[in-house]
Amino acid sequence: MEIVLATKNRKKIEEIKKICETTGTDFKIYTLDDFPGCGDVEEDGETFEANAVKKAVYISKSTGMTALADDSGLEVDALNGAPGVFSARYAGPSADDRANLEKLLQEMRDVPPGERGARFVCCIAMASGDEVRTFFGYVEGVIGTEPRGENGFGYDPVFYPKGHDRSFAEMTESEKNALSHRGAALRELQKYLLKKRDTSGDIGDNS
Ligand code: IMP
Repeated sequence: MEIVLATKNRKKIEEIKKICETTGTDFKIYTLDDFPGCGDVEEDGETFEANAVKKAVYISKSTGMTALADDSGLEVDALNGAPGVFSARYAGPSADDRANLEKLLQEMRDVPPGERGARFVCCIAMASGDEVRTFFGYVEGVIGTEPRGENGFGYDPVFYPKGHDRSFAEMTESEKNALSHRGAALRELQKYLLKKRDTSGDIGDNS
């Protein structure tokens, strides 16, 4: 099956490819680098789902292929769910991961240990012709008080998944994939694709 991933984020592309490989599912994966004519989609939705669907539909229509888009972010309890859909631009429109992470630590500086709960949320949308489906994944955890670890991206250095004393950035890629919101959403997607393949013999068949 051929899929185009509606992202230019190398880390996400690697994570998605790795998860596809480890299940033995035969995907041929393209990225937006293979379709330089596709413009950017503005992530202006109020939910992760709205943003993921908007991106997947646009890229599917532009390329004529099955498109996968994800939208994800961090919801922090003590910040009433912020940064949420604004995770990528928490510290401003052109903020990088480091600036976003520093802003988060600053906002959390007075929050006591028992109140630092948070979760990563991921919605993956798959658009193929007129067919759109969404798959969700979540991982609960707590926000640390300082960055630890070099792996991953984004808020990984301050996110400790529930029951673990290492941040996502201190875990290997496969350890993170087994726990992460994106891993969970992708496993839901894979279940769907495998079921569809087994029942119709053709994943592109919308019937
Ligand atoms: P988007 O899904 O590309 O819009 O990313 C939203 C934001 O959430 C980015 O700034 C990421 O840093 C953050 N984010 C999403 N997934 C992860 C993750 O697995 N680890 C750390 N940060 C993440």
